[in-house]
Amino acid sequence: MKIYVLRIGHRPERDKRITTHVGLVARAFGANGFVLGDINDEGVIESLNKVLKKWGGSMEIISGVNSIKFIKEWKRSNGEVVHLTMYGLPIDYIIDKIKRSRKNKLIVVGAEKVPPEYYRLADYNVSVGNQPHSEVSALAIFLDRLFEGKELYKRHPKSKIEIVPQERGKKVVLKQ
Ligand code: SAM
Repeated sequence: MKIYVLRIGHRPERDKRITTHVGLVARAFGANGFVLGDINDEGVIESLNKVLKKWGGSMEIISGVNSIKFIKEWKRSNGEVVHLTMYGLPIDYIIDKIKRSRKNKLIVVGAEKVPPEYYRLADYNVSVGNQPHSEVSALAIFLDRLFEGKELYKRHPKSKIEIVPQERGKKVVLKQ
């Protein structure tokens, strides 16, 4: 099962850091791909590629595609779409159903107001609590529930650096 994250509504300058964090969470929490819809932001892509080069992993990065077309194409190729929104069904009600389906999943997160078409196209509109917070926290919690915490212990192939967890202080291994 492939998991991709689609970030929509990115506003250059204003959202650069948050969108980068969405990409970082996607990678660190086990997604196979990150898609920045409707816009190219070289700064964001460069930051993510730098992290991939140093910390490893093989997350695919796509940018500048039309988000609605991408979603429709994803569904046509038998994938399903999970839209994270505070208006959706509570994650605890729906996560088992989402886990049972072995279809590839596209997780959609917004920035500002998300147009109604996304709610209609989504197979699941999922809330992580019904309070407004952040796409970064919503995505992290969703992926953590989806992977049942196992993603935190995943090794990232081809990393140049790895942390050895310590009670105190920092221990890192530099690799070739
Ligand atoms: N006001 C916006 C709206 O009407 O959709 C929400 C903006 S919020 C800053 C940006 C994104 O964070 C949302 O599009 C959604 O993906 C995510 N988000 C925020 N709170 C959430 C929640 N409680 N549950 C799930 N996702 C949430």
